[in-house]
Amino acid sequence: MSKDGSAGFFTTRLEDLVSWGRKNSMWPLPYGTSCCGIEMMATLCSDYDMARFGAEAVRFSPRQADLLIVAGIINLKMAPVLRTVYDQMSDPKWVMSFGACASSGGIFNVYSVLQGIDTMIPVDVYIPGCPPAPEGVIHGLMRLQEKIAQGDTHSQRRIAASRGIQPASVQSTAAGSA
Ligand code: SF4
Repeated sequence: MSKDGSAGFFTTRLEDLVSWGRKNSMWPLPYGTSCCGIEMMATLCSDYDMARFGAEAVRFSPRQADLLIVAGIINLKMAPVLRTVYDQMSDPKWVMSFGACASSGGIFNVYSVLQGIDTMIPVDVYIPGCPPAPEGVIHGLMRLQEKIAQGDTHSQRRIAASRGIQPASVQSTAAGSA
């Protein structure tokens, strides 16, 4: 408890504990539309084993998932569906843009392909490559874990802003500069 009697200290510690639990128990929703989906499956299999990071419980319902992995080309017709899937996931939620096509349209610079899913939904981590190597995916997953621990994802920032508080990463930056 703080000197002024408020429970700020406990609230902060509880947030840290909850974030620790969240980052080690992500439930991915695989939104694989093309070749990148195959590479995503390889990353989930035993050789690379995303279970080591607590992210192996794949769910195909947005209501049961908190990590949306978009792997592949998103056509304009599919973009509203992707947005609906994202909206149906409950907060806090994370988004991984898997590969060049999801991140920027890749080699498909044509009118029918969405030139990056971040034009439709907020993305927390981008995985480069065509397709990305599983090692790159795991690196991105670990980077996402760091961001979740710091409360630095889009979803966490939005929740913090609605409560009128700053995420931990901003607080520590402000404390460092003081
Ligand atoms: S980035 Fe490459 S491997 Fe992935 S969906 Fe696009 S073309 Fe296929």
